[in-house]
Amino acid sequence: MTIRVGHLYPDYLNIYADRGNIAVFAARARARGHELDVQAIGMSDPVPAGIDLFYVGGGQDREQALVAHDLVQKAGALRDAVEADAAFLAVCGGYQLLGRYYRDVAGEELPGIGILPLHTVAGPTRMIGDVLLDCAWAGQTLAGFENHAGRTILDPGAEPLGRVVNGFGNDGDSGFEGCRYRRAYGTYLHGPLLPRNPWFADLVLSDALRHAGADPELAPLADELERQAHEVSARRARARGGRR
Ligand code: GLN
Repeated sequence: MTIRVGHLYPDYLNIYADRGNIAVFAARARARGHELDVQAIGMSDPVPAGIDLFYVGGGQDREQALVAHDLVQKAGALRDAVEADAAFLAVCGGYQLLGRYYRDVAGEELPGIGILPLHTVAGPTRMIGDVLLDCAWAGQTLAGFENHAGRTILDPGAEPLGRVVNGFGNDGDSGFEGCRYRRAYGTYLHGPLLPRNPWFADLVLSDALRHAGADPELAPLADELERQAHEVSARRARARGGRR
């Protein structure tokens, strides 16, 4: 099956190797006989119909300010796609712009597209370091790296991606990280995230296959190196101690 991927603003929102997540999707799909057809969706580009998986990476406040108003033009099509169960992975700065707004370090309020039930306000300090999450809903853990000034506040009843075991997470206070809505997932975890969390890469790929009308089942892969990478990242996060 060809999985159609829409990569939003690859030239603006791509820090801490976030574009590496696309390479992981491609390699894990190919290992199961599927192909990825990746389309860049940039400034003033329309959102193509029939995308199975949307992806957006992170960025500094400056890059977010450059894309935010263009992203709002795409909001309707992206919201409709998510309501029609397209998969969506959004990292850090991209995650913040999937909420209602991001008030940045300069106090400028950047509009979001309101796909995720949350808003974000930058604080006086940056939240930086390795993170370990407990994702009880999947019986798994997620390990990655965070670096953000934004404090993300989930709406009451919103589903977080995970409970923070080590690290700051959404706001350094709530004890939660990320957000899930239908098949859209937002997270602060960079690294990139997916090489050290193969279960999550497969979960999102399965969502995309389901949207493409294909069998979402994915044969297990050896993932020895991936498991080691996860363990190294988790050990670093644990070394931070507590939730800070
Ligand atoms: N600029 C945003 C913040 O500082 C997002 C940073 C990022 O994508 N790493 O919170």
